[in-house]
Amino acid sequence: MKLVDAHCHFDFPQFDGHRFSALDAALSNGIVGLVIPGVRRPDWGRVQETALAHSGLYYCLGIHPWFVDEHSIADLESLEQILGSRPERCVGIGECGLDRLRGDMSAQYPWFESQIELASKLGFPLIIHSVKAHDEVHATLKRGSWGGRALLHGFSGSYQQATKLVGQGCFIGVGGVITHPRARKTRDTVARLPLESLVLETDAPDMAPEGVEAGANSPVYLRRIFECLSEIRSEKPDLLASVLFANTQLLYGQSLW
Ligand SMILES: [Zn+2]
Repeated sequence: MKLVDAHCHFDFPQFDGHRFSALDAALSNGIVGLVIPGVRRPDWGRVQETALAHSGLYYCLGIHPWFVDEHSIADLESLEQILGSRPERCVGIGECGLDRLRGDMSAQYPWFESQIELASKLGFPLIIHSVKAHDEVHATLKRGSWGGRALLHGFSGSYQQATKLVGQGCFIGVGGVITHPRARKTRDTVARLPLESLVLETDAPDMAPEGVEAGANSPVYLRRIFECLSEIRSEKPDLLASVLFANTQLLYGQSLW
C-alpha cells in the first residue's frame, strides 16, 4: 500500500529537530511521499530546501489568504519568474484561496484571482485554502475560466458544495477532520463522493486528528486518516489506497512516486 500526503507543512519550525524521525515514521507506515505547500514569500526558500533534502518530497509555492497583507505585486512577479523556470520538484501553485474567518475577504480576492491566472498560464495545479468560502471559491474559479486541476485542501462542508467544486476541476482533500465523530456532515460527504475525486492529506502540523494534541499533527497520522476513510466508505482498503494514490498522481503529475 502506497499513501501520499498531498498537503503537509513539513517545512514549519514545529518539525525542527525531529524532521528526519517524523519522515522515517511516516515511511515505515506506508507513506511514500508528501507535498509541501508554500504560504508566504519569506518561507519559499525553506519550503524548497525541505523538499529537496529528502526523496519523495515535492513542493508548491504561493501566497496564502492569511498573509496577503505582507505581500506586494513584486512578489507575484517573482512567483511567476520562479515557476516559469520550472524548478525541480515544484509541482503546483498554492496555497492560495479565501478565508471568511480570518482577515478581509475582499482583500484576499485579487491574490487568489492572480494565482488562478498564473496557474492557468503556466499549466500548474492549484492548491486552494477555503474556509466558509466554498461558494465564493467555486465562483472565482468559474469566473477565471479555470480548466486545470486543483486541490480543495482540508475540505469541511456539504456534499452539494463538494460536488460543485469537483465539477470545477477540484479534488477534495480528506484530512484529520473525518476522524472527529462530531464532523458528521464532512464524514457523510466524503463517504458519498466519487472515489476518483478524493486525495489524502494531513495539513500537519495543523488539523490534528482525534486524539492528537493541537499543533502536533504529523505525516505519520495519514495512515489513521486512511483507516478512518476506509471505515466510512464501501471499497476494500487495497482498492481505496490504489485509487487515492492514482488521484494524487493525476493531481500533481504522473510518476512522481
Ligand atoms: Zn495548509
